[in-house]
Amino acid sequence: MIQIFKKISLLGYLATLLSVGGCTEDKNGDRLYFSIEDDIKLGAQVSREVDSTYQAKGQLLDPANPRNKVAYDHLNRIVNKILSSGKVSYRSEFTWDTKIIKDDNVLNAFATPGGHIYVFSGLIKYLDNEDQFAGVLGHEIAHADHRHSTKQLQRQYGLTILLSVALGDNPGTLTQIATNLATLKFDRDAEKEADAYSVDYLGATNYYACNGAAGFFEKIIKEGQQGRTPEFLSTHPDPGNRVDAINNKAAADGCKTQPSGATTYQEFKNSLN
Ligand SMILES: [Zn+2]
Repeated sequence: MIQIFKKISLLGYLATLLSVGGCTEDKNGDRLYFSIEDDIKLGAQVSREVDSTYQAKGQLLDPANPRNKVAYDHLNRIVNKILSSGKVSYRSEFTWDTKIIKDDNVLNAFATPGGHIYVFSGLIKYLDNEDQFAGVLGHEIAHADHRHSTKQLQRQYGLTILLSVALGDNPGTLTQIATNLATLKFDRDAEKEADAYSVDYLGATNYYACNGAAGFFEKIIKEGQQGRTPEFLSTHPDPGNRVDAINNKAAADGCKTQPSGATTYQEFKNSLN
């Protein structure tokens, strides 16, 4: 019976969406049937599932555990600098909680709709400086803020199924999404756009080198680690072209490309040992 009611409420919801025209322009000028509230609901569902998946493997660093305090103080300090840039459209609507997954072999990060960000300890330890890491975080924040994850999931699953997941009515698909999110394939334009917004965000911090993300790509090209970064190189864009695109935008914007020289990054890395 509950199932029937849920189905009716979903149908009603869809009918309302379609009858009122559904999609209004969001803050970024995009039109999606999925609303910002739906992004938030879907993100809450997906992040709960991601948390429990990595908890079960003993890999999620619990932010509430005093042993992880130093690591999370550094992480949140860096995230907050980017969020305070004034360039993040859904800064106050989305949660932007950021968690660390302890796996030193993985050079990856990913974002759910609604702004839950996950970074692997391997990526944090691999990078040389805080500017590179901030560049990667900016890229992930952009995927959520510009709703790339929502658009990609909607393409993959369709609006009706995705709404049912957001409403907590589709545990099977929820598990699938949570499992595959770390390797979700974005299209080339979404990747380019996330790189460009990373430059905007970092430039507006007046602290980090705005081309920090280029430093990340340069390092993985030089060291032949492309295969270990599934999210960033998922759609066959040549990483060398991305370095050029990031640096060209930085030059066109005239933003600072001198690294911040933050010595705190080594402390952050050490806190993960
Ligand atoms: Zn990406």
